[in-house]
Amino acid sequence: MKKRRKRLSILGSTGSIGVNTIDVACAFPDRFEIVGLAAGRNIHRLKEQIGRVRPRCVAVCDDETARALEKILPADARAVEILWGEEGLCRVASLDEVDMVVSAIVGAAGLMPTLAAVEAGKDIALANKETLVIAGELVTRRLKAAGGRLLPVDSEHSAIFQALQGNSPAAVKRLLLTASGGPFFGKNPRELAAVTPQAALRHPNWSMGPKITIDSATLMNKGLEVIEARWLFNVPVDAVVVHIHPESIVHSMVEYVDGSVIAQLGMPDMRIPIAYALAYPERLPVEAPKLDLFAMRALTFYPPDMDAFPCLGLAYRAARIGGTMPAVLNAANETAVEAFLAGRLGFTEIPRLIARVMDAHETTAADTVERVRQADRWARGTAHAVLDGAPAPSEPTTRHPDLSRPGTHQSVPCTKP
Ligand code: NAD
Ligand code: MG
Repeated sequence: MKKRRKRLSILGSTGSIGVNTIDVACAFPDRFEIVGLAAGRNIHRLKEQIGRVRPRCVAVCDDETARALEKILPADARAVEILWGEEGLCRVASLDEVDMVVSAIVGAAGLMPTLAAVEAGKDIALANKETLVIAGELVTRRLKAAGGRLLPVDSEHSAIFQALQGNSPAAVKRLLLTASGGPFFGKNPRELAAVTPQAALRHPNWSMGPKITIDSATLMNKGLEVIEARWLFNVPVDAVVVHIHPESIVHSMVEYVDGSVIAQLGMPDMRIPIAYALAYPERLPVEAPKLDLFAMRALTFYPPDMDAFPCLGLAYRAARIGGTMPAVLNAANETAVEAFLAGRLGFTEIPRLIARVMDAHETTAADTVERVRQADRWARGTAHAVLDGAPAPSEPTTRHPDLSRPGTHQSVPCTKP
């Protein structure tokens, strides 16, 4: 009997992950049907996507954008329902007929729609790592109650997920998370101080949206991914160990108690992990460059330079403190990245601003959406206040100095992913 097509809603459809997801889904029209799209303000790309996939419903970030979209749609596309605001995004994330929601909005704006999908019991292909950073405990608890599944899209987490297949979670020792190192691998703090937004936006291996590209350059992306892995695979944060791997071929590894290490390899192309999440547990013959190991001269691995890239240590620190601190880390980072891209903050001032906001935060439990959102608002307000006046300290402050470094805790085995 012919299988029913999987019905998708794609949140963040006009972004890097969204566009790749539509390409993968459209390459397999007998497998997938796209019924919902959601995006921010890029109405011209959204218009093209509406013409291509004919969704039933779309959402944009506000009513003005919704009206502008309505105006530019051709007559034959006007049947699409246009929603807006957080409510509209949440509606696209929880449409009755949808089987899987691809969560690919960037930043904290992805939290509420992703939670709406969780609560509606949908399977979620998760690219928006910020959701798990901000509210990992809440999301995983609600997911359990509602019965949906969280399938990683992030290439490292997809690799770990693949390397876990068929193995007992109790046999896992550590998750070895690889990082390209970004465009400034090997640079010292003095060289980093002169980095411009243009240079930071040129990632050597991956083509991605601007925010994650800057996060990759500061290593905050890897820090956010450590926290994402901690929640996705239910391991202590110190069982997640970062390995710099400039070739971006080994997408991550799982180390087992018997000393075996299982890795997933492939070309750095997001269509591969996207397809795995969409079709899991099946695999699709995706159109992506194939790995030629004979053409690879070497696969190399290095420990991260925690002094040159303090953002990674800040993420470990936030994860160890727990509660609302990771939400504060994330919000301060989003504000810092925006300020860096706008030319208001230097590259090496990004971690200083984040540390300063974290140091001023009184952590509480992150057990309700309201608490998490309040911490997020507080952190943005505090970061803006620092940007607007109070000078940032010259070094990242260290109220919890022992919590910034992985290594001292790395022997903790993870027995229950
Ligand atoms: P992007 O900037 O290219 O796209 C972001 C999308 O979110 C766009 O469609 C934009 O319109 C939408 N958006 C932004 N603000 C919004 C708002 N307030 N309301 C509704 N929509 C809004 O980003 P990206 O690179 O595709 O990344 C998306 C997410 O996936 C991020 O969380 C990122 O960390 C994660 N991710 C990306 C990659 C990658 O290769 N690009 C890899 C792994 C994980
Ligand atoms: Mg990644």
